[in-house]
Amino acid sequence: QTDGLLGPAAIRDLAQQLELRPTKALGQNFLHDANTIRRIVRTAELTREDVVLEVGPGLGSLTLGLLPAAAHVTAVEIDPRLAALLPRTVAERAPALADRLTVVEADALRIREVPGRAPTALVANLPYNVAVPVLLHLLELLPTLRRALVLVQAEVAERLAAAPGSPAYGVPSAKAAWYGEVRRAGNVGRRVFWPEPNVDSGLVALDRRPPPAGDRAATFTVIDAAFATRRKGLRAALARWAGGPAAAEARLRAAGIDPTTRGEQLSVADFARLAATEVAA
Ligand code: SAM
Repeated sequence: QTDGLLGPAAIRDLAQQLELRPTKALGQNFLHDANTIRRIVRTAELTREDVVLEVGPGLGSLTLGLLPAAAHVTAVEIDPRLAALLPRTVAERAPALADRLTVVEADALRIREVPGRAPTALVANLPYNVAVPVLLHLLELLPTLRRALVLVQAEVAERLAAAPGSPAYGVPSAKAAWYGEVRRAGNVGRRVFWPEPNVDSGLVALDRRPPPAGDRAATFTVIDAAFATRRKGLRAALARWAGGPAAAEARLRAAGIDPTTRGEQLSVADFARLAATEVAA
């Protein structure tokens, strides 16, 4: 590769240096296809002003693609061996860009702050098991993120981007929609990863929009309740949340929602309105 990106041989070499056995629990599937990396970077539509947050840089496949396109990349990696290797890999393959990189060894689900300049874009090939919670946590933690472009399992991509009323619409779709407009941004086959996972992947782009009026935590509580019993109408599904079926019905009516509707039909703005209703004493 002339641009320093990691191909299959480089990935193999780096893994050998670390005697790395990729673990499933940490979703360690590394990209080894330069065309896919270029496509992800292009789709992120970064400007040279962007400060990118990357979760799970792994062996550095995507990091090396992001560095030339952004002002800075802050990479949060949970695996200490990978976090330690990354600055060395970048110093070797892209020495002129090495000072644009900050590596943080941490669990992205638990971080409470990101050092240095506030990130404006999240670009990541997310660990599969925790993709949705990581995405939601970071959107909540970092209001400066104006966009996210993440690679996730194809099925998760479909769920994240699903519109109300469609079969894939559920908790992840409604919660992600709190933060912005979500769309699918391409498919990625399993062959571009080492080791090869047994599912295909998909890119999801989220553009930040102002949230609906209302309280986020209260809205998320209703969303969880509405989807906990999928086959029920909302009057029954929300009975426990509201303090009984009659109270649920009253709150649904107060929000202008038909009590026989199912959660799948409601937009995040509907959920926010419902959360804001009070039961008459
Ligand atoms: N970005 C690399 C690439 O595209 O080749 C690696 C992506 S791999 C799918 C996911 C990476 O996330 C792994 O390097 C793994 O160690 C790391 N990881 C897993 N759980 C994490 C967490 N909770 N916080 C931060 N990094 C995590």
